[in-house]
Amino acid sequence: MDIDQYRKNSEDFISKLEKEYYLHFSGIKEDVNFSAIYDEYDFLFSLDNVEYLKTLKETSSGEQRKKTSYLLKFCVEGYLQGKVKSLFDQICADEANAKVEVDGKEVSYRYSEVILSNEANKEKRDLIDDRRNEIVEKLFNRNLVRYWEELHLQAENLGFSSYVELFSYLKDEDFLRLKEDMEMLLEATQDMYEEHFGSFLEKELGIKLEDSRRSDFSFLRRAKKYDSFFKKGCLIDLFRETLLGMGIDLGKQPNIHLDIEEREKKSPRAFCSTVKVPQEIYLVVMPIGGQDDYEAMFHEGGHAEHFGCTSPRLDFEYRYLGDNALTEGYAFCFEHLMQDRSWLVDVVGFDPDDAKGFIYFSNIVKLWFLRRYAAKLKYELILHSEKEVFGKEGAYQEILSQANLMKYPWETYLKDVDEGFYCTNYLRAWIFEAQLKNYILEEFDYTWYKKKKTGDFLRELWSYGQKYTPEELLREIGFKGLQIEYLINSLAFKK
Ligand SMILES: [Zn+2]
Repeated sequence: MDIDQYRKNSEDFISKLEKEYYLHFSGIKEDVNFSAIYDEYDFLFSLDNVEYLKTLKETSSGEQRKKTSYLLKFCVEGYLQGKVKSLFDQICADEANAKVEVDGKEVSYRYSEVILSNEANKEKRDLIDDRRNEIVEKLFNRNLVRYWEELHLQAENLGFSSYVELFSYLKDEDFLRLKEDMEMLLEATQDMYEEHFGSFLEKELGIKLEDSRRSDFSFLRRAKKYDSFFKKGCLIDLFRETLLGMGIDLGKQPNIHLDIEEREKKSPRAFCSTVKVPQEIYLVVMPIGGQDDYEAMFHEGGHAEHFGCTSPRLDFEYRYLGDNALTEGYAFCFEHLMQDRSWLVDVVGFDPDDAKGFIYFSNIVKLWFLRRYAAKLKYELILHSEKEVFGKEGAYQEILSQANLMKYPWETYLKDVDEGFYCTNYLRAWIFEAQLKNYILEEFDYTWYKKKKTGDFLRELWSYGQKYTPEELLREIGFKGLQIEYLINSLAFKK
């Protein structure tokens, strides 16, 4: 196997895939050709390549091992994808075509989620939720069982005891250690969550925790009352202005293409496409306004700046692959401006009292997500520990409901699962970001977001692409690695 050629081909493959993704979801191109791209490059993901890279990983050390490890993960993921390709296409097509009845009208399954999050009437919301869950059980679960069991089987065929063990090996992560941290987080925030989330839910929606469902959160989070602060027309300028405050001029970053054109088929959710790192990055937004829209834009903007400022001299592995907890951490770094009092008053134009109320809300939402992902890790470790997925719906419902204190539907036990333990990237990113923010606040104080020095510091971190893990970067700036206590401490909030 010619590793240099392998890198080159892999880069071309990712570029083509990302370009296709960009063109389709930005609404420029209607049809998609993902499977044609996979077919063209399926030679990258052969069992021979998997075995070659695995042996190389096991016999090398230091930087060589790290790069090989990133390549191996990429190769195995492609190999697994190939095994479930047609099932995956079927599941996507079923989801795109499924219809749900809402108020006597047929709407698409996907769009019904938007209707649900805007429905103020609890009874109607429950009804939409029930219908959606019926569809999941009736139309999706049969194929999802086959999908996950096939992946579990493939993990065993590759010589691992389970999918858990395979991904722990590929990501070089100790999932059990992280799970212990998450149990600590769940315990440390239990009373605070019950008190604050419980009273907030009752005040805003008139629902008691014990009567609530997960779907009530979608409406709570929508928080229409804050829409007037987060107008559709101000989003882009506010983002530009925030970056400019840190000395980063989006107008002078021609490699970051800001796509804000309105197109009928454009994804309403912001996203970032890394077609060529760092030469061709797309930040795609169709502003609709509201706090969640702003959050999504700042999150994706964090990804775009990270990859757009990555050094072109780095090897392929460090520009495209590597530890995604890092890029998620940089994305959170911007997203969490939404909990930054000083920025809200200074840049968004909140008066201090309104800011207080909004931050309270925003922190509650953050805590909800953290607890949800902590529970997801606990559940996914059970789901992926053996080949069979039969009977796991009880564990799903119980673990998730216990963490959020809202009733989860059992039906989504296979749908509400990310590939390859992506949940650990978010969890580690949350810890990483809490520590990074702690450092930034100490170095540059609470007005960090309007200091060129902060921009210079972030740009230096971004230039390393994904060469270093969050643990390694944190050690460089004086921490002991990922330390859960920083995240727990950042969550303490007052009414
Ligand atoms: Zn992200």
